[in-house]
Amino acid sequence: MKKKLSLGFFPTPLYELKNLSKQFEGYRILIKRDDHNGVATGGNKIRKLEYLLQDAFDQGCNTVITAGAQQSNHCRLTAAACAQTGLKCHLLLGGEEPEEYNGNLLLSGLLGAKIHFTGNHRKGEDIPVLAERLKKQGNKPYIIPYGGSNKIGALGYANAVLEIREQLKAANLSIDYIVFASSSGGTHAGLLAGCELYQVDSKIIGINIDKDETQGKTLEEIIRELVPGVLEFQNRKPGPDQPDIRLIRDYDKGGYGIVTEQERKAIKTLAETEGILLDPVYTARAFYGMMDLMEKKLLMPGSNVLFLHTGGIPATFCYAKDLLSLCRG
Ligand SMILES: *Cc1c(COP(=O)(O)O)cnc(C)c1O
Repeated sequence: MKKKLSLGFFPTPLYELKNLSKQFEGYRILIKRDDHNGVATGGNKIRKLEYLLQDAFDQGCNTVITAGAQQSNHCRLTAAACAQTGLKCHLLLGGEEPEEYNGNLLLSGLLGAKIHFTGNHRKGEDIPVLAERLKKQGNKPYIIPYGGSNKIGALGYANAVLEIREQLKAANLSIDYIVFASSSGGTHAGLLAGCELYQVDSKIIGINIDKDETQGKTLEEIIRELVPGVLEFQNRKPGPDQPDIRLIRDYDKGGYGIVTEQERKAIKTLAETEGILLDPVYTARAFYGMMDLMEKKLLMPGSNVLFLHTGGIPATFCYAKDLLSLCRG
């Protein structure tokens, strides 16, 4: 067992969406609120950061560097976690500095991160240069990869499976599917490893968000490489079977961060039936995918389906124009 810090409030709530379930005959729909973990508006990166920042302390680091888009939830939560634990935080964000700060960028700034705008270098290309400079100034930097998705970060979601298992046991429930937004692979790999470690037989269904590859690798390849690493931390040898990677690519056609009718429909449905907000980039796309799979009966009728809400709410405010039609409708 690897040690971890405690950054969020866990367990996060898990409960049935009773109103929504009535609209999808034959399904019982539940939600796991990882958007509700109490850190700077919440989100899935906190579970990863509990392990990553523990590792940073174990290595005697005093500064964290990570990279992402200007509206990166991962960067916002890294800034919050560093503030909580007294680490310095440097964020490398693609593009030029905007005139006004909004959404996650605004929050990252408020949380005290030092923000560097890196122009065309959008995926952390400038990290080594910054790390060198910080070292020369006497710091010991810890580098967190894109999305916090290495095998240490992914441990957070292996651990989440244990938490879910306990909650289901207490409620005398079982779950056939866990559906969620998959993007840099850490959440997906962690859930797969967790199901193997803790003997949970739910099917893990990632809805692909970004149709582009990362550094020439498909998301399936990234996940396949991460799972054995997570198992090894728990002293478990990967079994002979390949992990059952189910990544659905039918809903990413608009491209990353583009709001389409799908996302609007998902936001409206969950907001108006249950009073729960979805973010326009990740969770709305994944939630639409889940609704569509149920409508087409591609999830087994009669099953219990758990939607993992991974957060992302601050980005909503950057998409006000795309969402206005829902308000005036
Ligand atoms: C990062 C993120 C995801 C995707 O998680 P990965 O582990 O990167 O695949 C999903 N939803 C939200 C809101 C996120 O910020």
